[in-house]
Amino acid sequence: MPKDIFGDIRYLKGVGLKRSALFNKLEINSIEDIFYYFPRRYEDRTVISGIGSLVPGEHQTVRARIIRVKERPVFRQRGMRIFEAVAQDPTGRLSCVWFNQPYLKNYIIIDKEVTLYGKVGLYGNIPQMQNPEYEVLDSRSSDGAEPSGQSNDSLNSARIIPVYSLMEGLSQRMFRRLVKACLDEYLSGIIDILPYDIRERNHLLNIASAVLNMHFPQDALHQEEAYRRIIFEECFLMQLIFGLKRYKADKITGIAHKPNEDFLKSFEQGLPFKLTDSQKKVIAQIKKDMSSPRPMYRLLEGDVGSGKTVVALYGCMIAVSGAAQAVFMAPTEILAQQHYKNIKHQTSNIKYNNSPVNAALLTGSLSREEKEKVYAGIKEGDINILVGTHALLQEGVEFKRLSLVVIDEQHKFGVYQRMNLAAKGSNPDCLIMTATPIPRTLALTIYSDLDISTINELPSGRIPVKTYLAGEDRRGWVYDFIRQSLQSGRQAYIVYPIIDESEKLELKSAKAMYEDLKKNVFSDFKVGLIHGKIKQKERDKVMASFRKGEIDLLVSTVVIEVGIDVANASVMVIEHAERFGLSQLHQLRGRIGRGAHQSHCILLSDAVSGESGQRLKVMVEQSDGFKIAERDLEIRGPGEFFGARQHGIPELRVNPLENMELLQAARKEADALIKKDPFLGLRQNTGLADILKRRFPDYEKIAEAG
Ligand code: ADP
Ligand code: MG
Repeated sequence: MPKDIFGDIRYLKGVGLKRSALFNKLEINSIEDIFYYFPRRYEDRTVISGIGSLVPGEHQTVRARIIRVKERPVFRQRGMRIFEAVAQDPTGRLSCVWFNQPYLKNYIIIDKEVTLYGKVGLYGNIPQMQNPEYEVLDSRSSDGAEPSGQSNDSLNSARIIPVYSLMEGLSQRMFRRLVKACLDEYLSGIIDILPYDIRERNHLLNIASAVLNMHFPQDALHQEEAYRRIIFEECFLMQLIFGLKRYKADKITGIAHKPNEDFLKSFEQGLPFKLTDSQKKVIAQIKKDMSSPRPMYRLLEGDVGSGKTVVALYGCMIAVSGAAQAVFMAPTEILAQQHYKNIKHQTSNIKYNNSPVNAALLTGSLSREEKEKVYAGIKEGDINILVGTHALLQEGVEFKRLSLVVIDEQHKFGVYQRMNLAAKGSNPDCLIMTATPIPRTLALTIYSDLDISTINELPSGRIPVKTYLAGEDRRGWVYDFIRQSLQSGRQAYIVYPIIDESEKLELKSAKAMYEDLKKNVFSDFKVGLIHGKIKQKERDKVMASFRKGEIDLLVSTVVIEVGIDVANASVMVIEHAERFGLSQLHQLRGRIGRGAHQSHCILLSDAVSGESGQRLKVMVEQSDGFKIAERDLEIRGPGEFFGARQHGIPELRVNPLENMELLQAARKEADALIKKDPFLGLRQNTGLADILKRRFPDYEKIAEAG
């Protein structure tokens, strides 16, 4: 009898209520979730180094004997205690220190053999590890279990060790032990959703050995094979959903909009600017798609500031003119608000059938009551355009007649999220927008369910941003420059890579610099602060005051990266610019250069050589986002181009460029399977249907053919 891997982890030995609450925060609820909670990285501890040959700055493993231990309070740090040990092997001595782990004295005892793993530093002339991971090798004399691990389990040393993303209260040791226990006990109950013939054809491990080797790889080769199998599975599921959608799209009828030309003209004429040719071209494509009964699935690519929003809004107007509803989802509250205000503004003077366009905003920060009001308005159809954040995905959101779904900055959302939003209508048209340019061949595979439109020109009259690289020695000049701009009525951003000083000692942080700039350098101006740890409500307030011009200088982190549009802001200084990726820098810079004034972007950095120097040089020379993306690819190689959550498929832990072949193989298999069994009704495919249902609640809506 296979064990039930869907059981609640709460009932696992050693977990209990308190820990399971922490696990739930990591979205680990069942044993299956543990299986699929893969390491963030691995540490190779198969190589044992001699102490005499340790290299400072490297993570290394040593095997040595404890020759001295001492426990003492830390000088000037009240309450903090330090445990010191000296370990020795035939090649030298290593100093080890642990903070606030006084119980170690019961385990790290003179004469014991231990393995120690950690980053090598120097303490005077002696190599030192701070808080190294340890394992006591001689188990006989130890009196039993350690508090957070056990001796000689070899889970923690002398092998390739998994390192997980965990949170406070969950230790690596504990988690490794738990994973191991689950694997031992329950792995036999795991179901392989990939049919045997597909595994054979593509030389894939079965799921049990893949999961096993993802967590505790026998060696690097096995780990790679395991990874390949898991990636294939993810790609396959994704392509299966896409394939089912395509299959269905050809058979179903969506909404054939009948655009009301007079109304659309009055909308266009009411805009404060003339549409660019590029915008017009894309609008024509959208109009054609929306007029046809086949549901539209269109990806709109366009550089920052190219004016995607108004194109989407035009689509919304087509929906409104057909007495239907449009929904507009943005990744942050600030952005949703901006879109909402924009829509309000640009539709204030037009009427359809004598009634004004009614837009509403739905975000997480609305009160229960306000939300209920919006819910009612959507359900009754009084609201024509609903703008919001993830809050739109909630169950209470039911439309009377949803006919267009718009998703902004799609790389911040997952495929499943966008599909779940679409599932709130009956085959609505979908427009998905992104400022992350993707090579076409790649786009065709990872967005194989989408048609692609590109806006490839900026609105005329834009004055290109001037970009400079300045070293630390020019800080005074940079401050003077900001001061001059503020004095002439402009606004400015200063962006930092980190929020707090504690995170990384050597970097300037937003908080600390805010205090300094406010008190000392720019005390005669209004300085604001915004970063990810400030509550959303507060952030929105700060952003609103900045927009209104009540704040002159905004100190921030990358939270302003996406979409924010304040035309009067014409200066951006990015500190430690070498810490940012190219596309991030480009997105940040896209926040300025939106108004009638010449804008300036100053990259403060002393990095002039190497990869980071190259990146900064590209920023100075290039303003075209697509070209920058190409250069990014060249410099970094495809491996890092799609950083975490950059590739548009957050659920997919895949680098699509690196895994192009696998992705294509998965698509081929998925298409073949759908051809044979479009409803996944065959017995061998029920496992697949189940997993799609579990991962994607609206799968059935997509799967059922109309
Ligand atoms: P993005 O494509 O980055 O989302 P937005 O849609 O936010 O860009 O547009 C950036 C700015 O350009 C907005 O202030 C918008 O009103 C303005 N804009 C859009 N289209 C035009 C145009 N054709 N001419 C002038 N300004 C435009
Ligand atoms: Mg935008």
